[in-house]
Amino acid sequence: MIDKDKIRQAVTLLLEGIGEDTAREGLKDTPDRIARMYEEIFAGLKQSPKEALSKTFKTADCGMVLEKDIVFYSTCEHHLLPFYGKAGIAYIPDGKVVGLSKLARTVEVYARRPQLQERLTAQIADALVEYLKPKGVMVMLEAEHMCMTMRGVKKPGAQTVTVVTRGDFAGSQHLQEEFWRLMGR
Ligand code: ZN
Repeated sequence: MIDKDKIRQAVTLLLEGIGEDTAREGLKDTPDRIARMYEEIFAGLKQSPKEALSKTFKTADCGMVLEKDIVFYSTCEHHLLPFYGKAGIAYIPDGKVVGLSKLARTVEVYARRPQLQERLTAQIADALVEYLKPKGVMVMLEAEHMCMTMRGVKKPGAQTVTVVTRGDFAGSQHLQEEFWRLMGR
């Protein structure tokens, strides 16, 4: 379980640290609000995609399955600021498929943790490999990082793209090109 007391104390200290008056009207419930919010946006720490990805359906041999524009919200572990964008997931089934909503669920489980976009991309791909055992997987994440756009170099709208390939996709230019074509690139 998430320790809400610790979070409340930490947020109070943080506000004191930046020189705020924690007793003023607008801030007095902020530590508690953040504790409750963290319970939701970090819920993935206690979750696994196993349940979602274990419900598979047998299928005749078919080509690539691709789900795109899966919107996600995550939190950068270096700055605890949001990064958010869209995921595209493709896999080549080896006799079994999962419901499409389960792909989005898998993204959510890993996104709701302190994260790095690179690791998030790999975790999604590896979960599919582990539970679905497909012939190949390719995952692309495109996201805007608030730690880049609201501070430092300030490049609003800059998108970070990460791509991971596993299995048949890894060595196949042809499959990767098919992925990008289906993604509309
Ligand atoms: Zn960051």
